[in-house]
Amino acid sequence: MKNIEGKVSELLRPEVLALSAYPVQDSTGLIKLDAMENPYTWPRAMVDEWLEDLRSARINRYPDPTADRLRSALRIANGVPEEADLMLGNGSDELIQIVLMGLGGEDSVVLAPQPTFVMYRQIAVSLGLRFVGVDLNGKDFSVDMDAMRVAIDLHQPKVIFLAYPNNPTGNAFASDDMVGILRIAPGLVVVDEAYAPFADATFMPKLREFPNLLVMRTLSKLGLAGLRLGFLVGHPAWIGQLDKLRLPYNINVLTQQTAEFALSKHAVFDAQVECIRRDRERLATQLAALPVEVFPSQANFVSFRLLENDAVEVFERLKQAGVLIKNLSPAGGLLRNCLRVTVGLPDENQRFIDALTEILQR
Ligand SMILES: *Cc1c(COP(=O)(O)O)cnc(C)c1O
Repeated sequence: MKNIEGKVSELLRPEVLALSAYPVQDSTGLIKLDAMENPYTWPRAMVDEWLEDLRSARINRYPDPTADRLRSALRIANGVPEEADLMLGNGSDELIQIVLMGLGGEDSVVLAPQPTFVMYRQIAVSLGLRFVGVDLNGKDFSVDMDAMRVAIDLHQPKVIFLAYPNNPTGNAFASDDMVGILRIAPGLVVVDEAYAPFADATFMPKLREFPNLLVMRTLSKLGLAGLRLGFLVGHPAWIGQLDKLRLPYNINVLTQQTAEFALSKHAVFDAQVECIRRDRERLATQLAALPVEVFPSQANFVSFRLLENDAVEVFERLKQAGVLIKNLSPAGGLLRNCLRVTVGLPDENQRFIDALTEILQR
């Protein structure tokens, strides 16, 4: 075909052409502190037991389409209220996509406080929906409730996403503000609890009170990012409809069986989470001794603003020193000159602190 580019731009929707792909940094050979992964592996005996368990996996067959056993195990592990329904996604990213596909329509608005998880905007735009971001308060990244009320009133969003705790700022919004938003929202409110294992707060029990609330979680940050498994909890009236948009067999045999196995070993993950929470505090304290502003975090990462140095330059120098973190500065706005570091193994954190200290002293 001649002029293939012309054909491509003629056939694809303009919003697709305008998108940039979700950026993933090359981490080859670097200490990887950029993506909120759990740095801990499993004890040798547990790996052996898992591999033995997988002998029974029937990969010639389609997976259980409703993954009933896994869903029961997730309900118990996450304190899901009995009267709520639960559906699974290939990562919570897929669930965001399913919710937004269901709410479609060209005039539909998706709203979220910002800065926040970039996939809300990315998926909304990819589906031709309008995304409205409402700036958080610059001082402490709390919700600007006045701005929120105005935006909700003006745009009548079909769905509001609240990352709780928020990525990339690390804070959990005030529960009163969240409830205030649930009360005035004309549509759905999705509370995204990707960092629930590292936080002390959850909206799971509030599902009884608010029929327009959906709670979303994932196993990614807990230590199973490679599996791709997220879940969405809410009133059966919502979940029953949204589940029709889920592609059949979206959760593969290996993921179902491995997740069930992992949930049966929750003590191992609980212990890892404890270490990560402890090291998060240590990391924040060490950062606070440097010329940076550290933002309090209830997640498995710490974000901070450089006070005397340029974030882009510091980020590049850290990479040269073998440490990969996330440069938030290109997003601009409230993230100007900010960086985000995921809590790694204790010696990885120390390597990061040492490298950063040296860079900032130069
Ligand atoms: C990492 C993250 C997700 C993505 O989770 P997956 O289940 O891996 O797709 C969702 N929401 C927030 C706020 C995140 O930070």
